[in-house]
Amino acid sequence: MPAKGKHRRSTTQRLTRAAAVASAGGAALALPLIGATGAHAATGDAAPAATTYTVKAGDTLAKIAAAQHVDGGWQKLYEANKKVVGADAGLIKPGQQLTLEGAAPAAATTTSTATADYVKPVDGPVGTAYHASGSSWSSGYHTGTDFVVSTGTAVKAVGAGTVVSAGWDGSYGNEVVIKHADGDYSQYAHLSSIGVSAGQTVTAGQQIGLSGATGNVTGPHLHFEIRTSPQYGSDIDPLTYLRDHGVTL
Ligand SMILES: [Zn+2]
Repeated sequence: MPAKGKHRRSTTQRLTRAAAVASAGGAALALPLIGATGAHAATGDAAPAATTYTVKAGDTLAKIAAAQHVDGGWQKLYEANKKVVGADAGLIKPGQQLTLEGAAPAAATTTSTATADYVKPVDGPVGTAYHASGSSWSSGYHTGTDFVVSTGTAVKAVGAGTVVSAGWDGSYGNEVVIKHADGDYSQYAHLSSIGVSAGQTVTAGQQIGLSGATGNVTGPHLHFEIRTSPQYGSDIDPLTYLRDHGVTL
């Protein structure tokens, strides 16, 4: 009997996951399985009134989240609108209706000029890509994106934030980690010198150190990560993150 129950449960999980994948591809039939999130609109009970936003040409989730003051930034906005946006958070289309969960009430009309102010971490071409596989990384894949620059190139904070750590970190060599207002963390590794200290606030584009070849490297470069938490392993695609914040790469 217990085995049967187990089997039934895992079957359900598989179905749900399959439905989620189908939904990301745009199939509408998955809706009932996804369940509670965002499906209240038509029921007429006193669900909190959700503000909606119609995507315009040139919009990104980051732009919308910043302009509409969505708590949790573009990630929250994406979470709330996965069914509309689909699997690629970097791809939204004009005319799509987004739910602005957590948007500040009066923000919609007052801050249309406030754009996300982000920059590249360093002036240099992209080298080893995010998620490249290889034996040199303890996770089995590359948890950041490398920028090919010689030692001594200015490394800049990609956005405003607070330095949470600045110092030696094993194979990352000299490393700076910054927490940003959207709750994500940027990491800059293998620096030859560090120009900031923990607790310091920085602005977008502020120099935080110089690139180098410290730690586990085969040559000078900037290793750049974006993480959703301070912990190793919570990395997300750094270039997608920067593009979502209006950076041209
Ligand atoms: Zn790297």
